Amino acid sequence: MIFFIIYAIGIWVAVYRLRGKWHAPAILMASISPILLATIVLLWPSFHPQSNDLLLANLGGYGRLLAVFTGAFGFMILFVGAVILATPRRVPAGCCIICRYDLTGAPTSICPECGSVESAR
Ligand SMILES: [Zn+2]
Repeated sequence: MIFFIIYAIGIWVAVYRLRGKWHAPAILMASISPILLATIVLLWPSFHPQSNDLLLANLGGYGRLLAVFTGAFGFMILFVGAVILATPRRVPAGCCIICRYDLTGAPTSICPECGSVESAR
């Protein structure tokens, strides 16, 4: 149980720290994919009765019940992750928008740290 809580919090922290970069939605999608896969595998025998020997024969009828939990867990991670992704990243005045490097006193508007020209000046 504690593993699932740590897993969810770990994803949200990573998404929060990397939001604004392409890594954040990629991490979110990659981390819910095993949960989504588990939900599909658990629900599979419900929709395909002939394939009953697939993965422990629907766990003795508890597959659908477990799928409710895996589905809800995946949806919760996705929903909170999307809210975190939507929160704007605050860039301090005079810092690079991309890498937040402090550009105070820099001779050009090109960031010396990441080479970006989109600096907040
Ligand atoms: Zn920069």
